[in-house]
Amino acid sequence: MVKYIFVTGGVLSSVGKGILTSSIGKMLQVRGLKPTVVKIDPYVNVDAGTMNPYMHGEVFVTDDGGETDLDLGWYERFLDLSLKQSNNLTTGTVYKSVIEKERHGDYLGRCVQIVPHITNEIKSRIKNAGKALGADVVLTEVGGTVGDIEGLPFLEAIRQMRMEEGYENTLYAHVALVPILDVTQEMKTKPLQHSVNELRRIGIQPDIIAARSAQMIDAETLRKIALFGTIPESAVFSAYNADSVYEVPLILDKQGMGDFVCQRLGFNCTTKEYEEWQTFVNAIINPEHEVKIALVGKYAGLTDSYVSMSEALKHGGAACKTKVCITYLEAEKFEKDPQCIKDLSNFDGIFVPYGFGPRGTEGKISAVQYARENDIPFLGICYGFQLATIEFARNVCNLKDANSTEINPDSPHPVIDLMPEQRGVEYKGATMRLGTHKIHLQPNSIAFNLYKQEEFMERHRHRFEVNLDYVEILKKNGLVFSGKSTDGRRMETLELPDKYFYFATQFHGEFKSRPGRPSPAYRGFIQACIDRKLGKPNPTFV
Ligand code: GLN
Repeated sequence: MVKYIFVTGGVLSSVGKGILTSSIGKMLQVRGLKPTVVKIDPYVNVDAGTMNPYMHGEVFVTDDGGETDLDLGWYERFLDLSLKQSNNLTTGTVYKSVIEKERHGDYLGRCVQIVPHITNEIKSRIKNAGKALGADVVLTEVGGTVGDIEGLPFLEAIRQMRMEEGYENTLYAHVALVPILDVTQEMKTKPLQHSVNELRRIGIQPDIIAARSAQMIDAETLRKIALFGTIPESAVFSAYNADSVYEVPLILDKQGMGDFVCQRLGFNCTTKEYEEWQTFVNAIINPEHEVKIALVGKYAGLTDSYVSMSEALKHGGAACKTKVCITYLEAEKFEKDPQCIKDLSNFDGIFVPYGFGPRGTEGKISAVQYARENDIPFLGICYGFQLATIEFARNVCNLKDANSTEINPDSPHPVIDLMPEQRGVEYKGATMRLGTHKIHLQPNSIAFNLYKQEEFMERHRHRFEVNLDYVEILKKNGLVFSGKSTDGRRMETLELPDKYFYFATQFHGEFKSRPGRPSPAYRGFIQACIDRKLGKPNPTFV
């Protein structure tokens, strides 16, 4: 019998539902249970792929090529899962399939309605996610805030699931903000109380409440939350700000959340195994070294735009006992004031992330050039890989105005060009080269030193690639394409062997980076940053 946990959020968005959901999953996993997770995003987009990262944070890519909400990244990192596109439900996906069924005649003769047709579709998708993985528990996080109009059909569906699956097989967890007033330092529970009332109004009584606040919530306030929430005090937990998000399951489990959830759902778990997780958390919170990384991007104003990348850098840091301090720099600043580029000398490493469109690209290219000429460790990912190719073509191969046709369609030297199969593609949704593809590495390369295997799978999300017409001239001038697709036609990694560490990948290693098992590219980069800082002659990839 599969059990279901539903996580809702109150007062405001970004309250930490994703981390709470992942943490509950972790508490169950360390007790030997098998969790899976579904994220509900009540917006009408079919997936996150067409959204600007500035509005919604990064687009997380799954193995099967789903362009999903960034919370799937948290579930994968916390639970070491490989989730599928179908683990992310949106209003768009649900309506699309109900409308397709209606057109097909599946509901012939009936009036198709939100209840029961839309809610049935939602419920069957949640249940299918559990079946697909053979899970013991399906955690479902309902995005947005309780009270949002667009969230109502989803809340109605999870309300119905209690009746269908039974009390002992369903649990509602609610997380809401408890603000602390500046002036009096008082913890205020009224907004949380209202959000619980809002849930009850539609027929959901939470079983546990996580009170989210900057500090540990005092006993008196917890009692008040229990009283107004109509739940025992043992079901209220203080989700205060932690030094690292990876500490959250430990913090909440210590307060009894894991045992409470297991008892409530009838799981008889007697032991829990946190050793590996604790080792990773210790490495994160007790580092021996520190490196400063400049992330030169286009969406620098919203750090969630780069969350998988910043986490992969931290995973890499933990593996070399190093704290990674990331400064998010707007690439355009180097275009407006070229003198600023010298500020990059204050950093131990320069990182150029993914991106789309022309804005900020010249600034990023200047940053790559600065890294190369000053031999500062450099890692480029996807657009970072493409812009490094352009920089090398322009400044080393003397190919004047070399560019990507994404940036300048009339470039005399289109060293980065649209993939042939992309020509004529008009739809923007889910049409990039997406998901995992095999990479083949050449031995005796930085890439091989990092990955220690000739073939492996990594995730992708791009439309453009290195133009094969230019590979020869780039190679002749010293750029090594050490990794390729198995047919040899797509360049996947590049490196400059005479530099301290200069490496870039067309693929996105960050999506598969895990606590304790960092992406080799990211780990190698951080290792190089710390080694160079410590004055070692060569980076030590172990
Ligand atoms: N804009 C580039 C492309 O589409 C790079 C994409 C990315 O960085 N994910 O190929």
